[in-house]
Amino acid sequence: MIAKQEIVLSTYRIGKYFYDPIKFKVLENVNIEAYKGEFLTLVGKSGSGKSTLLYCLSTMDTDYEGELHILGEKITGKKTDALAAIRNSSIGFVFQFHFLLPEFSCLKNVMIPALRLGKYSYNEVEARAYEKLDRLGLKDQALKPASKLSGGQQQRVAIARALINDPQLIMCDEPTGNLDSKNTQIVFDIFKQLTHDYHQTIIAVTHDNDFAAASDRTIEMADGKIVNHYINTSG
Ligand code: ADP
Ligand code: MG
Repeated sequence: MIAKQEIVLSTYRIGKYFYDPIKFKVLENVNIEAYKGEFLTLVGKSGSGKSTLLYCLSTMDTDYEGELHILGEKITGKKTDALAAIRNSSIGFVFQFHFLLPEFSCLKNVMIPALRLGKYSYNEVEARAYEKLDRLGLKDQALKPASKLSGGQQQRVAIARALINDPQLIMCDEPTGNLDSKNTQIVFDIFKQLTHDYHQTIIAVTHDNDFAAASDRTIEMADGKIVNHYINTSG
């Protein structure tokens, strides 16, 4: 079921070039809408522009044509500080390279975005971080340095970290790419719960067809363009 009422992210004719080694158009005329409480997946062959698009949607890459709107605000053209503030309060990220601080504990890694946001006291942030780690089956790993965990565990820590500020939007690039089927199921169930029970919006790039088919809606890209749209009946 998709709550179609409220658009939380939209793009208008997003286009982008890369210039190295030669100029080529990596994204062309990309129009997307994502709704409140929706679990949206982005699929397509390797090199079709999924990660590049997600980077633009995440506000990290500002070098594109067209417009991006998030939570009713025009994002395109905003300055670095304003973008950072929007990211920190409203967007959670899980990228392919998780960027955990290896020498910090898992708990601390998860706490950092919340400490930066400054909305809760240190003790509250710590309690929230434990709760997120627990949801991802990692409570017993909380005090270990991130570097001591397996790749799959690190990926789940990165997901816990993305959830710490209860962002309205969660963007993921291959969130289950390193995970076995059991942990893929854990992540999938959490995403379902976040969208259905908490009305958060997930935009996830995936090459896992079962994962995509079980989401609410799937957008397929090829050569930097949207080529197909599927409303998934099992979602
Ligand atoms: P996907 O995530 O769908 O596999 P990407 O968005 O990573 O695709 O890449 C899309 C295309 O852009 C590919 O042809 C890739 O080689 C190229 N590309 C990605 N990043 C850069 C970059 N920084 N400079 C030049 N070309 C790039
Ligand atoms: Mg990619």
